[in-house]
Amino acid sequence: MEKKSGSKVIIIVLLVLLVLGAAGGGVYYFYQKQAPFRKLGELGYNEQQITVIKNKDLTAKVIETGDSELFRYALDQTINNADRYEYFLISDKDLPKMSIKDLYSVTSKMIELGYTAEDAAILTSKLDLDTITTLLRGEQPRDLELFADAIDHGFSITDSLLLASGNRELAEKIFNGDIAYERISPLMEKQYTSDEILTLLNNLSEDDYTFVMGMKYIPELPELSGKENFDMDMLPRYLMSLRSNRASMDDVVNWVNSDNDYIPADEIDYSAMYHDEEILADYTSYTYCVNKQYALPSNYEPSDLEYLPSGYYVLYHPMRHVAANAFVNMSDGSVVAGYERILAQSNYRSYDHQKSLYDEYVEQDGVALADTYSARPGHSEHQTGLVTDIGTASMDMLYFESYSGYDWVCENAHLYGFIQRYPEGKEYITGYEYESWHFRYVGVETATVIYERGWTLDEYALLFN
Ligand SMILES: [Zn+2]
Repeated sequence: MEKKSGSKVIIIVLLVLLVLGAAGGGVYYFYQKQAPFRKLGELGYNEQQITVIKNKDLTAKVIETGDSELFRYALDQTINNADRYEYFLISDKDLPKMSIKDLYSVTSKMIELGYTAEDAAILTSKLDLDTITTLLRGEQPRDLELFADAIDHGFSITDSLLLASGNRELAEKIFNGDIAYERISPLMEKQYTSDEILTLLNNLSEDDYTFVMGMKYIPELPELSGKENFDMDMLPRYLMSLRSNRASMDDVVNWVNSDNDYIPADEIDYSAMYHDEEILADYTSYTYCVNKQYALPSNYEPSDLEYLPSGYYVLYHPMRHVAANAFVNMSDGSVVAGYERILAQSNYRSYDHQKSLYDEYVEQDGVALADTYSARPGHSEHQTGLVTDIGTASMDMLYFESYSGYDWVCENAHLYGFIQRYPEGKEYITGYEYESWHFRYVGVETATVIYERGWTLDEYALLFN
């Protein structure tokens, strides 16, 4: 009996313990489940903010980050921004040096502009508020880290953007002071890649590199510059030979250096040089090139045509103001140099005038012959108003080569801004027979380059126009 009641007691005790244990477990379990939310509370999040964090499933991440005034601020601004939690979950100890309000506002702007959270963090950690604000008004850097480094090295936003559009290897050389920024920025602006610039820096002499800085983008140049015997003076001819498929990249340098591209004047098909003709899009400069490929619009007439003073012309044709002045000076120069005064014999011609001339020549000589010496309408350089055919009072322009001051004119014309436009031996490039008398105004700077390099305007235009 006693033994029986003893076992009952034990059973009851066991049951009680079981119930207590279960209840305790439940309480403990509930306690554990609530712990993260209590932790959020401890971190300073209010009930409403905790609800958002719970709903967005961010509890673990928020706890991991620890105190984040920025995130609390973001939660209060708009619930939508919590979707971009990765932009705002920055621990207080990592916060950049700007006010929470500013940081929130630039970060929101970066979200709007499509910056990644990582990029936004780089910008806010490395740049000051003014720099970021200015940056966000313009284009996005291609390499953000590089951009921030450039800013760090004291470059302006514009310069840093340009540096960040290239590669780090080139930028590091500039940061280290191995290369001056001014040496590479003109090429970067012309869309040369960093690798191409490094290639050019490696291959070209100082003078050639400086010369290239003034040219337009030449896609073939980096590879060409690495060829043995590359000669900058030959560059236009390399390009013409490559682009007309007369030579390949492998052999073009030696091929052209040996004059294999040269075609004797009497073997040239002058009519065939009219192909893929285009109307010039821009003829505002004094250096644009009219030739068999590029024509002026039929209605183009320069607005600043004027007549030369008496005593300076044979025929009363106008020229553009700047060319007329330059010719008067050159004419005076011929007298000072001790020769018979040079005179302008044929200057501006309208499209219609050229058309009637050309048609007349074709009727007289046929197309093939007319194309050796006369331009088709629109293709005549005389329509530019920047041209003069030179003669003297005692000598028609057609005999200009026999004029005693001919060598003086050829050697000094560039000092007045003129070039001989159709030189002997360049017929295969210009598309016209040699004309000793025909001079074109391009300005002193360009005329000097063309004269010193031994180029034609067609060659110059390939690199500069
Ligand atoms: Zn002419």
